[in-house]
Amino acid sequence: MRKCLYKDIHKIFARVAEKMPLYIPAKTGDEKAEYKKWSEGDELFEGLNTVKSPKDLFFPQSEDLVRFKTEGKNIEITDVREDKGPFAVFGVRACDAKSFEVLDRVFLTEPRDSYYASRRENATVVTLACSRPSETCFCKTFGIDAGEPGGDVSAWIAGDDIVFSANTEKGSAFLDIIGELTEECSCDAVDREKEKIAVIMERLPLSDLTTDGFGGGKTEDLFNRAEWAELSEACLGCGTCTFVCPTCQCYDIKDFKSGNGVVRYRCWDSCMYSEFTKMAHGNNRLTQKERFRQRFMHKLVYYPENNDGLYSCVGCGRCLKSCPVSMNIVKVMKKLGGKKND
Ligand code: SF4
Ligand code: SF4
Repeated sequence: MRKCLYKDIHKIFARVAEKMPLYIPAKTGDEKAEYKKWSEGDELFEGLNTVKSPKDLFFPQSEDLVRFKTEGKNIEITDVREDKGPFAVFGVRACDAKSFEVLDRVFLTEPRDSYYASRRENATVVTLACSRPSETCFCKTFGIDAGEPGGDVSAWIAGDDIVFSANTEKGSAFLDIIGELTEECSCDAVDREKEKIAVIMERLPLSDLTTDGFGGGKTEDLFNRAEWAELSEACLGCGTCTFVCPTCQCYDIKDFKSGNGVVRYRCWDSCMYSEFTKMAHGNNRLTQKERFRQRFMHKLVYYPENNDGLYSCVGCGRCLKSCPVSMNIVKVMKKLGGKKND
């Protein structure tokens, strides 16, 4: 393990940025932050979660896929993919690091999504343990340890120091880059920090939320439950919950006539939208209840059924903070199962 004074973190950022683009959760206003490419003067957000997750760095909200021009029966295709080379992402929380595993299973399973794969291969993910988890956090429900955040390098703020530990080859290369600015250290302070985080996690209001009643094989038990009508009643179908969610991965592909050919691009879509997956015969899900149910059945039943029990929620709490009508996955879980004390 290696450490430096936390107050010197900007020196670490400057050193890394000499070698490759570095993205950090940067302050953009009071209590607001977003992942952005670091440049001198950018301040690290010390709160927990950015409004949007670091998913955007691997699966951007909108991106061009290909350009083409047609002339008679001829078509000229331009591949717009470009390898932008290695980059680093600092300050990823344990829940968001786990969300990459969920996304990997979608985008890296054959047929591999080469756009996503190239960014994942080029990225060094430096995670940061959550010294002060918030009341909306429930990562523990999904077996995630906020004190053991994973990624290529794990980091902890322990006392006056920030401590780094490499988990992969890419992580070791990252520690080499910051080597001169850091010094070797024991893991005692980190162990104390992990214990402190575990105690806080136990005391959080959602610490007793469980996945009991969910998981693969529960479709018949849950699909026709009467509670879906009441749960979905207030949902506006705005899609905010899907756009802030680190694990939501649905997108639409569209063509845009640029005046100089056609740009085929993809952009995030939402199962909460009334036109989602609309086909020539019409729409699969005609009511907001059906759309709402799809979102939560996918996260809590269909996805784990097809992915060795892995849930497609990481308990980041973003949807708890951002839904305009205060509906969220926690309310769904409490209503349909999932709380020890109910
Ligand atoms: S659950 Fe909330 S955030 Fe999600 S679509 Fe419905 S109203 Fe919007
Ligand atoms: S469903 Fe909500 S709590 Fe779960 S990962 Fe998505 S935004 Fe986070």
